[in-house]
Amino acid sequence: MDKGFFEVPIAVNEPVMDYAPGSPERERVLKAYKEMYNSTVDVPLYINGEDIATGDTETMSPPHDHQHSLGTYHKAKKKHVEQAIDTALEARQKWASMPWENRAAIFLRAAELIAGPYRAKINAATMLGQSKNIYQAEIDAACELIDFLRFNVQFMTEIYSEQPESTSGAWNRLEYRPLEGFVYAITPFNFTAIAGNLPASAALMGNVVIWKPSDSQVYSAKVVLDVFKEAGVPPGVINMVMGDPVMISETLLNSPDFSGLHFTGSTTVFRNLWQQIGNNIHNYKTYPRIVGETGGKDFIVAHKSSNPLQVATAISRGAFEFQGQKCSAASRCYIPKSIWSDVKDYLVGDINSFKMGSPENMDNFITAVIHEGSFDKLAKYIDQAKKDKDAEIIAGGNYDKSKGYFVDPTVIVTSNPKYTTMCTELFGPVVTIYLYEDDAWEETLHLVEETGEYALTGAVFSEDRYALDVAVKILENAAGNFYINDKPTGAVVGQQPFGGARASGTNDKAGSKLNLYRWISPRMVKETFVSPTDYRYPFLG
Ligand code: NAD
Repeated sequence: MDKGFFEVPIAVNEPVMDYAPGSPERERVLKAYKEMYNSTVDVPLYINGEDIATGDTETMSPPHDHQHSLGTYHKAKKKHVEQAIDTALEARQKWASMPWENRAAIFLRAAELIAGPYRAKINAATMLGQSKNIYQAEIDAACELIDFLRFNVQFMTEIYSEQPESTSGAWNRLEYRPLEGFVYAITPFNFTAIAGNLPASAALMGNVVIWKPSDSQVYSAKVVLDVFKEAGVPPGVINMVMGDPVMISETLLNSPDFSGLHFTGSTTVFRNLWQQIGNNIHNYKTYPRIVGETGGKDFIVAHKSSNPLQVATAISRGAFEFQGQKCSAASRCYIPKSIWSDVKDYLVGDINSFKMGSPENMDNFITAVIHEGSFDKLAKYIDQAKKDKDAEIIAGGNYDKSKGYFVDPTVIVTSNPKYTTMCTELFGPVVTIYLYEDDAWEETLHLVEETGEYALTGAVFSEDRYALDVAVKILENAAGNFYINDKPTGAVVGQQPFGGARASGTNDKAGSKLNLYRWISPRMVKETFVSPTDYRYPFLG
């Protein structure tokens, strides 16, 4: 900025559209869905502003209609990944030194493109490629991604304005440089918004990025990439490579110029990546930043004073929206025996009213799980629960992969608070419930706190303020996003910064300034106006 202290537009959350029957937005998204379903796309790698078709391809299919082809994507060879490193480093020279208002304008433009001309397309791509119903697509691919882009621009300017004190004799200036090298962004299948945000947030702060989307999200990743291109992200700044994650990661993490990992995905993958980075630590030019938001085993714990209908609704939405495939999804619940009969009636009533099928039919609340691997894993746990003496399935329990990967929303009640599905992240529409004696409130809270390795989200329901106070204290470290009388899902950028600790991640809070601090390396510049000319201090006489 050389000719003004510019202020960016104040960030506001993008309003969620209704998609009610007959609404224009519903017509638009259904039209886009049909057109996209009836055509195919070819997604090449994107390196240095160029499409690279390697010829080594995989087919993309809707999880709810797995025999149908949406097109193909191309897989990288090692030489392509090396090419991405070289071109990113070359692009860095101009990108890192360009005045920030240009970066701000590009990503604000990307937000407006999604809010307007790309909205139906990015939602339809998310419905087709990831089997989200329209509401889940809208809050993710449209609204959350728009919010990330707008709020991060505002956060960037807030960070830049944080400056140290100066005196009349010396001016102290903090320059928020990007990292020296390139950032590697690895994104999960379950949120189009996360897929867009992980490369964009680092690039916004002046970094160059190599982005590897999940194999199961390439279809909507391509729309995100098209938005970035149209918004004016220059060649080489965000490069997209698909293919073997082990080869791609090894190649990138072996580079001496690797300077940051922006990861969201499962805990084991993140731990392995961290280990590889550790093994390479002597080779890097700078200590890499490592940011990883990983798995969860998120809880709802209800007190005897809580309202059974509210608790049941929180489970219905918190456990089953997007088929339970949110890192924040409720998957273990602790319900006092005195209210269980009511909670159960409401919950089972809700589940029986859920409709399941293609997201194109907007009556469907539930669609398919992401892929066959996930389907088979869920089926295995459900079958095991049918056999185990300490588990009982009270709703759901069926599955069918003949057309799509459909798993019925399933409720397991267990007498064993450490039952496998109370501890293991299944990432599907399965919730497990443990019933406790009404008077064992504190004991149960300790159980919640000690079960499993994660600490991502959790919710407590109570009308008793003393009981709540106890819960807030005992569960202090059990969740990075803690909810009182609300479901544990649905964090909004700018309102509930998101992330957890323990095995759930580095808790760098996506959707807040805290995350952006990880992508900068400040330079302190002290300028003295009149330099001393004698080394002797007065005490020397
Ligand atoms: P995943 O770990 O299978 O994949 C995530 C990414 O890592 C993908 O791009 C994948 O291709 C890549 N990957 C897989 N194996 C790899 C390897 N050996 N080396 C390098 N990269 C590799 O996760 P997923 O199934 O896409 O997403 C679900 C997981 O993500 C769940 O555990 C969920 O809790 C977590 N998640 C966490 C958050 C959060 O904010 N904490 C948000 C969304 C998802």
